[in-house]
Amino acid sequence: MNFYKKIQVLGGSAKYDLCGSYLCTSPPRKRDPLGRWIYPAVLPEGKTILLLKILLSNACENDCKYCLNRCSRDFHRMGYQPDGLAKLFINLFSHCKVQGLFLSSAVCTSVASTMEKMIKTVEILRFKYRFKGYIHLKILPGAGFDYIKRAVQLSDRVSVNLEAPSRDRLKSIASDKNLDKDILLPLKWIKVLRSEKTGAPAGHTTQFVVGASGESDKEILKTTSMLYSEFDLTRAYFSSFQPVPGTPLENHPPTPLLREHRLYQSDFLLRKYNFKFEEIIFDSSKNLPLSRDPKQIWSLTHPERFPVEVNTATKQQLLRVPGIGPKSAERIVRMRGRNNFYTLEELRGVGVVVKWVRPFILINGKKQSGGFQCRLFP
Ligand code: SF4
Repeated sequence: MNFYKKIQVLGGSAKYDLCGSYLCTSPPRKRDPLGRWIYPAVLPEGKTILLLKILLSNACENDCKYCLNRCSRDFHRMGYQPDGLAKLFINLFSHCKVQGLFLSSAVCTSVASTMEKMIKTVEILRFKYRFKGYIHLKILPGAGFDYIKRAVQLSDRVSVNLEAPSRDRLKSIASDKNLDKDILLPLKWIKVLRSEKTGAPAGHTTQFVVGASGESDKEILKTTSMLYSEFDLTRAYFSSFQPVPGTPLENHPPTPLLREHRLYQSDFLLRKYNFKFEEIIFDSSKNLPLSRDPKQIWSLTHPERFPVEVNTATKQQLLRVPGIGPKSAERIVRMRGRNNFYTLEELRGVGVVVKWVRPFILINGKKQSGGFQCRLFP
């Protein structure tokens, strides 16, 4: 197999694993002239780096219905040996093409032998090439405790993909995987290892294939919320299902990106705005309405909570106002201690989105007219 063709295929296959939402990939992901896949990823401290995302192998033993690498799909299989992949990465790194690695793989021969090779790749990078940069290592469903422990020790971030929000949903699209034994148990081990400060300082994550199993947004967010509270998950990613030719779901409709976007917005409410799952508003089909931002919908259905006076409201009250985010709420509370706010322009100066905020606030007791039209607040 031609060297560049291999990078193209195994890098291209890795695109289905997300390392950032499309909301925060700026600049957007790109493919260089050789076909290698390079993605911007936002680190927990807010810095953006370029990741090489690649599979160790695309030869899978499993037969997940949505996946291009499933064993019953007819296409050419290939893979790297650990030293070859480590060398490829270091070559790109030394030419300043990438700054970090996102390594995943299909289940090649067995989960154990694939995890062995993935870990070997990372060990070569860490110890032979002394690479100290960012590594996100995907943990395969069903991996044993010792592999998980080593992965956590060596990596900045690890992840195990849930794919679907319940046992039945997962069974319907990935019959080889057992939600409790293969996915939740590894996530529990990772939680314990991280609580002992064993490694993975950038946390542990998961991903859902949105729309593949007929699940609702309510099911996805309920499971996500449970993972945050019971498994200390750092964050969840949502990947819109896109049909792949030659799979049982090739005629299944693709999931609109707007649905993925609304899930990310709601996930932000859970993680950054102190919303509880029970406060997220769904439509009659148990999905997030696509027509409006979830926080705006919550605000419009709670007129008793508005308007809030920006010069006296608590940070929690400010966080409920459309157009005020965690950073701007923080700045308002900090700055008004010295000087009260008097105008919308002053609020704009601390990052408030003025067009959204007007109907929901008072500034020194005064209502703000214009901007976003809100039927509930005449
Ligand atoms: S185990 Fe992973 S690579 Fe294999 S078919 Fe399932 S989703 Fe695809």
